[in-house]
Amino acid sequence: NRAAATASAKAAGIKKKIAVMTSGGDSPGMNAVVRAVVRYAIHRGCDAFAIYEGYEGLVQGGDMIRQMQWGDVRGWLAEGGTLIGTARCMAFRERAGRLRAAKNLIAAGIDSLIVCGGDGSLTGADLFRSEWPSLVQELEDTQAITKETADLYRHLTIVGLVGSIDNDMSSTDVTIGAFSSLHRICESVDSISSTAISHSRAFVVEVMGRHCGWLAVLAALATGADFVFIPEKPAEVGKWQDEMCNALQTFRRLGKRKSIIIVAEGAIDSELKPISAEDIKNLLVDRLHLDTRVTTLGHVQRGGVPCAYDRMLATLQGVDAVDAALASTPETPSPMIAINGNKINRKPLMEAVKLTHQVAEAIEAKKFAHAMELRDPEFADYLDAWVGTTLVEDETHFVPKDQRMRVAIIHVGAPAGGMNAATRAAVRYCLNRGHTPLAIDNGFSGFLRHDSIHELSWLDVDEWCIRGGSEIGTNRDTPDLDMGLTAFKFQQYQIDALLIVGGFEAFTALSQLEQARANYPAFRIPMAIIPATISNNVPGTEFSLGCDTSLNAVMTYCDAIKQSASASRRRVFVCEVQGGRSGYVTTVGGLITGASSIYTPEDGISLDMLRRDIDHLKQSFALEAGRNRAGKLILRNETASSVYTTEVIANIIREEAHQRFSARTAVPGHVQQGGNPSPMDRARAARLAMRAIRFFESARNNGLGADSSSAVVIGIRGAGVSFSPVEEVENNEAEIELRRPKNAWWRSMHELVNVLAGKTFSD
Ligand code: ATP
Repeated sequence: NRAAATASAKAAGIKKKIAVMTSGGDSPGMNAVVRAVVRYAIHRGCDAFAIYEGYEGLVQGGDMIRQMQWGDVRGWLAEGGTLIGTARCMAFRERAGRLRAAKNLIAAGIDSLIVCGGDGSLTGADLFRSEWPSLVQELEDTQAITKETADLYRHLTIVGLVGSIDNDMSSTDVTIGAFSSLHRICESVDSISSTAISHSRAFVVEVMGRHCGWLAVLAALATGADFVFIPEKPAEVGKWQDEMCNALQTFRRLGKRKSIIIVAEGAIDSELKPISAEDIKNLLVDRLHLDTRVTTLGHVQRGGVPCAYDRMLATLQGVDAVDAALASTPETPSPMIAINGNKINRKPLMEAVKLTHQVAEAIEAKKFAHAMELRDPEFADYLDAWVGTTLVEDETHFVPKDQRMRVAIIHVGAPAGGMNAATRAAVRYCLNRGHTPLAIDNGFSGFLRHDSIHELSWLDVDEWCIRGGSEIGTNRDTPDLDMGLTAFKFQQYQIDALLIVGGFEAFTALSQLEQARANYPAFRIPMAIIPATISNNVPGTEFSLGCDTSLNAVMTYCDAIKQSASASRRRVFVCEVQGGRSGYVTTVGGLITGASSIYTPEDGISLDMLRRDIDHLKQSFALEAGRNRAGKLILRNETASSVYTTEVIANIIREEAHQRFSARTAVPGHVQQGGNPSPMDRARAARLAMRAIRFFESARNNGLGADSSSAVVIGIRGAGVSFSPVEEVENNEAEIELRRPKNAWWRSMHELVNVLAGKTFSD
């Protein structure tokens, strides 16, 4: 409990002086780190400092080291780059530079340093810490500081945070900035795609990643690219040219009008010879006579607004970095704040750096399988999903004839980003294995009333990974519309497996079908749901498809209204967020937009809460009198209370504000479905859909069908994909009447929203 920890730190008289700096190449989310560190350090009773311009500022000292106040980081969540600057600093590589840095830190009274950067920055930080006692001794010996001062600073706390767009650090699944960069890449490739189709062109797109193909693989999967080159799994020398040309020719024969090839800047062949975008272009022109262009995305990939995931990651990790600094002792090795399987973790910093260097060494030694192993566990899965859903395999990859299935795919519930991407991947993988993919149009009612079921081809679904909504149509109807007729239709169309993509109704539909197996043999087939809903309220998974897209939509909307509120100086927006009876979007949305209050269905709304929140608003506006950036945001889930509606809350605030500030409502409504799905939702969709088809294959081969273990929720749990029988999920993990999971993992973020808004109470 953070409040208790804070109280005990204060009681023990601990007042650390914690400095934060950003170093190396910038990455989106670094400002969110600085904001979280500054505010949370102040909350924990510490003094917070920022070191400007990375190690350069540390070496120069003076005005480059500044104490930060709560309000100094207002609005920083939404800013790209790093507002405290970063630089490459030669002086810090020398002991003399580090000696000056030590003197400057001591002069400012700082005893803890939180460094956000890449492996170089973290190596420098660890070296600084290991040398620290000798640096302090030298300062004492040369009388640059007194013995008393030296005694106070014998120990320096270092905590590392990984800010890097490449996602190239071992020991953590994701680095801060990687997903924002992926957003920039996918936006660009989506735009290139439309012009490529118009002119029937080929584009070779070079993306960043010297030793790491994460951006390239995820971008290829999310945009449906035709070929990808990465350093960890190099193209085979002498063979890749034929492989690529054959694949592209096959796609063109199937009717594709565009060809997109993604190449990581560090792409090599198996003899370590670099493969450049120009090499690929020349080949496509010479051999296939394709009108080919090269686009090097360059610094566009570093820029822009941090995406929802990066803001969340940066905030959670920034907070944990402060906790880690406060828990540090001279004996503990410097920690690096990681995320593993959706959990914030502390890992030994130098071990992580060593492992990271091992990737480059493994590639250098041509131990490519080892290089892949050193990457995060999802990386290989994503590459596998790209191969399985892109390349048109020959019949040698088909399953034996008697194991081929007619796999029906249906969408149930409201549209959510990634539904189409999941369908595309399922269709493609089915075709690559010799199965027949069938789309059911317009949900169960469409199927029952209009027999709307048809086969889908490889080309039919080609563009679906980037499209929002539902290409095959979706609605909330469940099979209990007419269970007997549903069973009859299953028999009529010889359905061997069923993939349902959707939200809570989809979950209900699967449960109904599973329960009806006793009466209807037609349902004794493998069945699965891939959860897809912006509400993220399906039990059996930590994330549903669409919830990341929705968070990004809510974030963009809230950034805009917050800006408007700031421009009007003294205004509060009460924003109504969807999510059914799940407060996921409201809670994480509140965290990533810097909301001053959130109201969720789980916690409800009481008069006490409103009174405390309005008091807090009054205090904030009073404190910020005369300052520019005084826009405030409250997020209220649509079902948080039937009495305290969005309008009522805005009215109460207006009444209580006595014209010192105003309140407005804002309802983004269906905008929250988010248009085109986010890259994360697209990639997750492909990964889960391919695993769904593999699950059907193994369930069928194992003779499952009547067994409850063959009707599953395909979930993301930690870094893995889980297959949980719907019956078990319903019994153990669901609050059925409330249409949400029990014990949702994100609930503790509510307290953090309050803390980072400057509220000391907890709801
Ligand atoms: P990116 O991933 O963007 O390359 P990075 O943190 O790895 O980020 P570097 O340029 O390698 O970027 O390092 C940033 C700074 O960290 C350097 O300019 C230097 O000041 C310091 N630094 C890096 N390596 C060391 C080292 N071995 N010893 C001391 N300082 C170092």
